[in-house]
Amino acid sequence: MRIAFAPIAAALLLAFAPARGAAQDAADCLYNDAHFHIQDFKTDGPRVTDITRMMDRHICRTALMGLSVTVAHDPLIDRDFAPIYYTQTDAQALYYNALQDVLVAHKFLALPEVDRTRFDPLMSAFNLKDAHAAEYIKKMVQLYPAVWTGFGEIHLKKQEFSEKIAGGPPSLYSPSIDAIFDVIGEMGALAVVHCDHDSPGNLALLNDPGARMIFNGKKPKPQYLEAFQAFLKRHPNVTMIWAHFMGNGRGVQPYPEHWQYLDNMLGDPAFRHVYIDLSWGGVIAPHIIDTPEHLKMTADLIRKYPDRFLYGSDQGATADWELVRRSYEAWDPLWKEIGPTLTRQVARDNYLRLFDASRKNMRTWENAHSEKIE
Ligand SMILES: [Zn+2]
Repeated sequence: MRIAFAPIAAALLLAFAPARGAAQDAADCLYNDAHFHIQDFKTDGPRVTDITRMMDRHICRTALMGLSVTVAHDPLIDRDFAPIYYTQTDAQALYYNALQDVLVAHKFLALPEVDRTRFDPLMSAFNLKDAHAAEYIKKMVQLYPAVWTGFGEIHLKKQEFSEKIAGGPPSLYSPSIDAIFDVIGEMGALAVVHCDHDSPGNLALLNDPGARMIFNGKKPKPQYLEAFQAFLKRHPNVTMIWAHFMGNGRGVQPYPEHWQYLDNMLGDPAFRHVYIDLSWGGVIAPHIIDTPEHLKMTADLIRKYPDRFLYGSDQGATADWELVRRSYEAWDPLWKEIGPTLTRQVARDNYLRLFDASRKNMRTWENAHSEKIE
């Protein structure tokens, strides 16, 4: 009897010990990250096991995104300077490179099974100017079954980025983006999408006496807002997560009406599949919650639509918690303003609902289209 006891006790202990992923979900983490890039623009990044270690006690679940493009070193343009970030060249040096997605899938599969549930790999490195890309996406899903949770970050308009894509920027009017998002919708998947709401510097030009002839006394409107919203409306089967509080960035700042535009969109049933991420906090929070009025308007929107906002770090290629935590802390005044219950919904619960549904839908699609590639 005594001999048998130890293995039975050990088995019981194992049976009742929560898996590490489940334990993470229970209490001891700060957030789930809807917007995390494991690689940089050269496909470099930390080992995924280092990411897992960083996540312990801080992050329950995370999106695992590469980047949609890599940056070429073209010595004819940049000589011996090898750019590693998209701002560091004026060449059309960004190109869609499937290695980004292959590495994401490879790293996910290198994880021990128990850790995989904490990661949600997203695919992004397909050419938005190519209607064939819809077929390539299906191949990548079949090549790596049971890997992908969804898609992202997909860049449409992005300052200093989209115009540097080899062959020119993606078009908001091209049938190719519709072909791609038709397939994503067929899979019932989510997509993290980046589309600046405006061309950079428009608002600043308004106060530039030398630029008076541009607007001629008229107020500018966000240049891409309507076109992108028309695109969103065409794809109601895709759970769209519009990044950076609806398309803000370094030179693309919110108009005074930005919060009203957001309210109009979130209140419109035609956009009930659209969600907003609070990511790139270090860059955009200084324009979103910089005044008591902005802070209140942001908090009021979250109070009105508590299931439509998600937190994301937008950190890239790092496993350094001291760095990654700063994206979360950039929103500290907002977390304080909305209180712990709403913070939990934005920072944790909404992620679980959307990412779990997308993951499940993709497994269902795979089962119905289980062609083995050999
Ligand atoms: Zn982005």
